Amino acid sequence: EFLSNKIAAGEVVERPSSVVKELVENAIDAGSTSIEVILEEAGLTSIQVIDNGSGMDEADALKSFQRHATSKIENEHDLFRIRTLGFRGEALASIASVSKITLVTSNGQVGIEVQLEGGHVIDKKPAPLRKGTDMKVSQLFYNTPARLKYMKTIQTELGHTIDLMNRLALCYPDIAFKLRHHDHILLQTNGRGDLRQVLAAIYGIANAKKMVQFEGESLDYKISGFATIPEITRASKNYMSIFVNGRWVRHFTVQKAMIDAYHTFLPIGRFPISVINIEGDPFLTDVNVHPSKQQIRLSKEAELMDLIEKTLHKVIRQSMQ
Ligand code: ADP
Ligand code: MG
Repeated sequence: EFLSNKIAAGEVVERPSSVVKELVENAIDAGSTSIEVILEEAGLTSIQVIDNGSGMDEADALKSFQRHATSKIENEHDLFRIRTLGFRGEALASIASVSKITLVTSNGQVGIEVQLEGGHVIDKKPAPLRKGTDMKVSQLFYNTPARLKYMKTIQTELGHTIDLMNRLALCYPDIAFKLRHHDHILLQTNGRGDLRQVLAAIYGIANAKKMVQFEGESLDYKISGFATIPEITRASKNYMSIFVNGRWVRHFTVQKAMIDAYHTFLPIGRFPISVINIEGDPFLTDVNVHPSKQQIRLSKEAELMDLIEKTLHKVIRQSMQ
């Protein structure tokens, strides 16, 4: 059991940002409206995620570290309509097997603190009734030195987590996110559902002001988002974020449709800062193409690309008049 967790950890837990991803997604699944991430040494020393979600009782807290202990799949059919972010029930077991964890959680009725080392519970005691969960993962990969050696510089590891948190903040403007690294606050959103505030927090107020908003609908898809006017561009496509049904994805064709929407207004080799949300029936959006779920296959692609290009082009043209 513990060995298989450690093997699974090799797949789930690649680096500090993968831990942040799993912990924050769990916090989101638990209905949190406020999520704070605190890192030391880019997460290599510690990663702490504090949420105000449902919390857990003692039994659930202990169960959460067991493999395939998910509270999120009711039946087989659910696998095809994944609403919550986590669904395999192996993230916590994997993370726990390669780190030291202090979990403090409360559902409002009981509070519990659990300590684990390498997946083994070494202590548990009552904790205050502050509703929500505070999970601190320390000394990641302390018992897998080979993995530890793969870690890049603090700046690189931190960069991965910043990218991740930016995406999550864009995806969930109703959640107040805070990312802290030692004494620095690297991201802070207010959770009031205002995407422009999130864009300002990530890209700066001046750039956020130069973005136009777009919205459109076809038979099968609904799109919405923001994109900078042709005056504000970047030399990289990395500032173009794509979300499909609440998941950040890479999608070359969607990116191309967005760029095409600028027609001749976009200087060669320059790209907008943009974010697009695509919503469609989960049956049209096959999330299981790639294990990391960052690649996605979209049905009725031509319809979607047409919708994106026309919708965005219209607002870009208006902004130039
Ligand atoms: P999954 O998310 O795939 O269900 P995880 O290993 O990530 O599996 O988590 C196991 C279980 O622990 C979850 O199903 C959930 O019930 C519980 N859990 C984990 N984190 C939290 C949290 N922050 N708040 C409430 N419950 C949590
Ligand atoms: Mg999970």
